[in-house]
Order: sequence, then structure tokens, then C-alpha cells
Amino acid sequence: MTILPRILVWNEYRHEREHAEVAAVYPGGIHAAIAAPLAAAGFPVRTATLDEPEHGLTEAALAETDVLFWWGHMAHDEVDDAIVSRVQQRVLAGMGLIVLHSGHFSKIFKRLMGTSCDLKWREADERERIWVLAPAHPIAAGLGEYFELPREEMYGEFFDVPAPDELVFVSWFQGGEVFRSGCCYTRGAGRIFYFRPGHETYPTYYDAHVQRVVANAARWAAPTGGPALAFGHRPEPLERLTFA
Ligand code: ZN
Repeated sequence: MTILPRILVWNEYRHEREHAEVAAVYPGGIHAAIAAPLAAAGFPVRTATLDEPEHGLTEAALAETDVLFWWGHMAHDEVDDAIVSRVQQRVLAGMGLIVLHSGHFSKIFKRLMGTSCDLKWREADERERIWVLAPAHPIAAGLGEYFELPREEMYGEFFDVPAPDELVFVSWFQGGEVFRSGCCYTRGAGRIFYFRPGHETYPTYYDAHVQRVVANAARWAAPTGGPALAFGHRPEPLERLTFA
């Protein structure tokens, strides 16, 4: 029996409470829409939101998390820097992080990437065609050559991130732009996946292909059980040092 990773879905949860058109799409919040199919697939899933104490990202909550999902947009600046550092340390120690859509501008993603993470964008109800560039990658399991979302926000290159270790998806938009929409990284012992779709006014997280990618990414980003990171002065060598 495979033990599935413990997931924490973090959402800013502001658009849904402040904008009726978003609440109409995600009445329980984007976090609930992401969490429900993961729970149905058997993952142990909890959710957390920005306005909870410590944004719901307490030491205890993170200690019980193998993979953290992150959706944010209008309140990136309200995320406490100390909490960002806490999440960063957990990632470096091996926790998986899945950054979704406008999370490209989150403090935690920019911190981990070290670049502006800026891009081009347009809200024009465009079709997005998401091509699989790495058919053998676990995050592409169960997909066809591509899948489509009938309406999405456009994100266009240049996307100012470090070259991904593995590029799983590239998106094409009706207006002609393209975008690296599934990017894998490692930082320390942690795995990071950036997945582009998920604008708040579209029902993207109810799409079966997107749900498949979300579940695949959760499995892929789980801690691999590798060695704990160790650094610093080593006065005692592993071998006896002899000098002529
Ligand atoms: Zn958006």
C-alpha cells in the first residue's frame, strides 16, 4: 500500500469573499475546490488561509505537511516575512511546494527562485492548450499529448524564473503567446512545481485534467526520504589522514 503524502492547501481566500463573480465560481473558496478531489483520491488533506493566525502556517501545521499548495494573488504583501522564512526552511528540509497560477508573484516563490518571477498577462477568455513536453514525467501520467481549458487568463513569456530542472508543460494561448506552464525545481531537499492555470474567475480547478495534474504533482513533490541536509565544520575526517 502506498502511503500518500499529507497535503495542506493554502489559499489567500480574499477574491472569493470580496468579489461576487469569484464567489459564484468557488463558493467554498479555491482551497476547497483544490482539496476536495485530493481528499476523494485518498490524500490526507487540510486547508489553511491567510487570515487565520500565522496564516494557518504554524510550526505544528507545517510539521504535519508533506506537500504544501499555494494560491495567492491580491494580498501577497500581507504574508508575513517570518512565515515566508518558515515555509522556505521547510521546503529546504524536504517539504514539497506546489505554486499555482498567480502564486508566481508570491513572496515564497520569489524567495525560492531569486528572480522577479514577472510575466505578461491578459484577461480575454482565451482558450489555453497545454502541451505535455515530458511524457515520461510522473506529473504527466494519465494525460494525452495536450489538454485544453476553454477559457483562461493568458500568461506569456518571458517568464522571469530560473530555467526549470524539468519542463513538463508549455501552454499556447489563442492570442498567440506561449508560456512554460509546468516547471519543476529542487531547492535543498525539497521539490517545487509551478503550475500555471487557475485564474479565480474560471472553473479551472473543476477540470478533470487539472485535477489529475494536481494529484500527480502532490505525489511527485512528496519528500523522497533522502538524507537530512548537514552543513558546517567537520574537524573529524571520515578517513584517517596520514601525511608522508
Ligand atoms: Zn489570474
